[in-house]
Amino acid sequence: MRPHVFHPESQMMSYGYHPEWSEGAIKCPVYQTSTFVFPNAKAGKEFFELAYGKRQQGEGEQPGLIYSRLNNPDIEIVESRLCLWERAEAAALFNSGMAAISTILLELLRPGDLLLYSRPVYGGTAHFIEEVLPLYGIAVMGFSAQEEVANIQKRLEESGMEDRLALIYAETPANPTGMLVDIPGCRSLADHLALPHRHIPVVVDNTYLGPLWQQPLRLGADLVVYSATKYLGGHSDLIAGAVLGTHDLVGRIKGMRTFMGNMATPFTGWLLMRSLETLQIRMEKQAANALKVADFVNTHPAVAKVHFPGFLTAEDGLQYDRYLNQCQSPGAMISFEIKGGEADVFAFLDQLKLIKLAVSLGSTESLIQHPYTMTHAGLTDEEKVSTGITEGLVRLSVGVEHPENLIWDLGQALSVVDSENQQPVQDVRMTG
Ligand code: PLP
Repeated sequence: MRPHVFHPESQMMSYGYHPEWSEGAIKCPVYQTSTFVFPNAKAGKEFFELAYGKRQQGEGEQPGLIYSRLNNPDIEIVESRLCLWERAEAAALFNSGMAAISTILLELLRPGDLLLYSRPVYGGTAHFIEEVLPLYGIAVMGFSAQEEVANIQKRLEESGMEDRLALIYAETPANPTGMLVDIPGCRSLADHLALPHRHIPVVVDNTYLGPLWQQPLRLGADLVVYSATKYLGGHSDLIAGAVLGTHDLVGRIKGMRTFMGNMATPFTGWLLMRSLETLQIRMEKQAANALKVADFVNTHPAVAKVHFPGFLTAEDGLQYDRYLNQCQSPGAMISFEIKGGEADVFAFLDQLKLIKLAVSLGSTESLIQHPYTMTHAGLTDEEKVSTGITEGLVRLSVGVEHPENLIWDLGQALSVVDSENQQPVQDVRMTG
């Protein structure tokens, strides 16, 4: 008889934790401790040998607990549970998505290297890549999310820097426009330019869809990175990041994490364990709501354009092919362009009653923001225009509320911009 295999959602409540560690407590407690007592001096020595890579891990050996900047049960359990969703070999948790991203880039790049990265990316990532990495002698070259790999390769060859290529970084779907980058295409480009002694890693920010609806590791990525603040956390009450991939690469990233000191806290690990139990039902409900909300805004006279992967058709060419090839769902992120300028957009945002005006995404409550003046304010006007971040664009993260209430809220707020269809402002009762 073949062994019965549990789905990840069935394992999120218990995997990696043994109640006998904690007086039979069904839930893993918060191991709120800075350090761990060694059973004896020899064990302490062995734990450090392993932690500092002085010897290989023995068959069946578990790394010993040392100090909460290196490891902690709440962190290790979350890491092992995250691996289940994407069948990753290893995971590393961080105290923010930016900590995860910056640590990957600092560990895998050296002065003189070239980083190729998709555009647009989250504003903080763009800042780190464009403003910080060049200070360390790292050259960076952007490519448009829509660009074909053959064209990127041609531009690389023309730049004369192709032999310096050390890493490809892609954010897909891209924040805030939802454009899709060709992950297998990035893999073939990296393999094409690799040297016998130099593998070129492909790193994918999967914050928008993963881990349920896109598994970049299966599409050729070496590492997948998350702002765990978003869907993984899902309740707007924590900041965290995660990296998944092979033992070898994640081991290097964890080594750097030890010295950057940007490990997540035990309480954040504990909150994430709570969140992962409902990841699937939250994301499924959010995606079902998003389909209804996207249909509504798509037909509204005050809306000029909607960016939502679920609306891609064969006419969209490569974007559609990538959607079919890479994504299992359109997700729950919608961007749309409101007719008019900043004043119209702000009037709409200020009129919303249920949907909250705040950055971040992937939470149980719906959140909306204006990338042009908020998350992507740091980009130049030229960068905004070239990546589709217009003054009229708003980014909506759809939550788990009743879809009728979300649609009502958007409708009454959009009527402020749509002078021909203005609705009288109604009183709202939040309870009863
Ligand atoms: N990646 C994406 C796609 C994001 O949207 C964000 C934040 O909004 C980040 C990374 C950074 O994550 P954090 O805010 O957890 O540092």
